[in-house]
Amino acid sequence: MNLQDSNPSHDVIIIGGALSGSATALQLRRKDPSLRILIIERSEQFKRRVGESTVEISSYFLTRVLGLTDYLLEKHLIKQGLRFWFHNEKARCPDSCSEIGPHFNVRLASFQVDRAELDEHLLETCRKEGIEIMRPAEVKSFELNEGTVQKVTLKRGEEMMERSARWLIDASGVVKLVARKSGWVRRNEAHPISSAWARWRGVRSWDSKELHQRFPQYGNRCYALRNTATNHLIGKGWWSWWIPLKGGDVSIGVVYDERLVQPPEGDKPADRLRGLLYEHPMARIFLEDAECIEGDVHWRRGLPYYSENIIGDGFALVGDAAGFIDPFYSPGMDWVSFTTANAANLILKERQGMAQPEDYSYRNQLLTGSYHRWFRAIYENKYFYMGDWELMKLAFRLDLGLYYLGVVSQPYKHGEEAFNMAPLNGPHTDFPAWLITLYNRRLSSIGKARMKRGTWGRRNNGSYYPFVSFTLDYKLTLRVLWALMAWGWLELKEGWRSWGKAVHAD
Ligand SMILES: Cc1cc2nc3c(=O)[nH]c(=O)nc-3n(C[C@H](O)[C@H](O)[C@H](O)COP(=O)(O)OP(=O)(O)OC[C@H]3O[C@@H](n4cnc5c(N)ncnc54)[C@H](O)[C@@H]3O)c2cc1C
Repeated sequence: MNLQDSNPSHDVIIIGGALSGSATALQLRRKDPSLRILIIERSEQFKRRVGESTVEISSYFLTRVLGLTDYLLEKHLIKQGLRFWFHNEKARCPDSCSEIGPHFNVRLASFQVDRAELDEHLLETCRKEGIEIMRPAEVKSFELNEGTVQKVTLKRGEEMMERSARWLIDASGVVKLVARKSGWVRRNEAHPISSAWARWRGVRSWDSKELHQRFPQYGNRCYALRNTATNHLIGKGWWSWWIPLKGGDVSIGVVYDERLVQPPEGDKPADRLRGLLYEHPMARIFLEDAECIEGDVHWRRGLPYYSENIIGDGFALVGDAAGFIDPFYSPGMDWVSFTTANAANLILKERQGMAQPEDYSYRNQLLTGSYHRWFRAIYENKYFYMGDWELMKLAFRLDLGLYYLGVVSQPYKHGEEAFNMAPLNGPHTDFPAWLITLYNRRLSSIGKARMKRGTWGRRNNGSYYPFVSFTLDYKLTLRVLWALMAWGWLELKEGWRSWGKAVHAD
């Protein structure tokens, strides 16, 4: 050990100062104010980015763990749940397109956030709470040394410099610096999805009086606010999100499964994105007078990936730097919540001299295993059925009900401690993981069989499922059991045709 090893410049160095980096720093510093933490962020200012919709877990994390409730209420929008819109050859307008969505406004808090604004606020909060920030500065390389001192080389302006710490946190997002340079990154080959998105101006409001008058059935059948929900227009093998941002811009993007969707060709990314969206008749109505904001159109192929290692004695990968599955149901910030909380807890345990050698491998297995189970349970081959109203309605009742039962209920019962675990992995998770994987697999097979028989999407016109938001009480279990019975009935009516058949794209 040389002098620098025995006397590192910091206790924790964090690469990347967006949500994951700031969230890790704040959790650490608030529990141990003696920690010397350095955040290195390469951008001078955050630009708008995707990741704008929170769900129940990430909302709990932002409000009750990070303490942002008042800030979120002031600067962002309260979200009114998830809403799905389907179409077929008979569905041409909001009156006739089938809909799934909350009938009344929702019960638990969630938000539509402008990430540039939120991430800037969090980084500024870090600065105010005594965390050192170097910005703009870019980490160029690093050296991981298990159990001792980690080193980074960074560039600030024209100057190269070195810093060292007992812990290195990688919060570099899709750059995934540590995993990439360590050879740990793997593509999720079983899930070939890609995405295109932009922020738009001039999008028609889902709650406008003019729209309600033009489409009275649409106007009258639902009592909730629709405009501040995350609206999803869905088709065969693709879906789109419509997320309103405070101030009037709307984030709209498409995610598609490359096995099922060939995006339109063209030179202009904005026109290609519009072309994808225009497959759904409602997009033409809502985007009639809308334009993408100049310079803010993005395409990303091959979205999902994972790191073979996430945490060890001296390093942790958090948020997107650790892996990414799929933005459907907005799980990104849930993953940020769990990975940052696990990293912070392990570091604090090590600082108190209480970490055992097996703690590192246990947590690594917990988080890497959670990625794979979460993917297989909820997302694998989902694009074969998500655009079919009947099948998606059933999946939505089960996916959301079990998310409430097994995940959302936990912090409300146990407080912050609940983030020190990982979804669908760890004690008591084998059965739920198996069950969710099973019904999603079956729904994919039924979706595929419907495509072959030409019955896929038969209820995509003229149906409305007025969903009543879940509550954290005895009714939740009953409603999940009821949905499981509906699945059983579907198997008897129709599912038997595809028993034993695998799902693939031909
Ligand atoms: C299409 C799409 C839609 C999504 N929608 C949602 C959604 O609705 N809800 C949701 O919860 N999640 C969503 N997500 C996921 C969400 O965007 C991410 O989970 C979240 O932004 C991750 O935050 P992060 O802080 O880990 O990474 P980022 O936000 O990417 O931040 C990484 C930071 O690291 C910095 N950095 C990188 N390299 C270096 C370096 N070498 N040196 C210094 N700094 C560096 C960058 O400048 C950046 O500020 C979506 C993702 C995609 C792809």
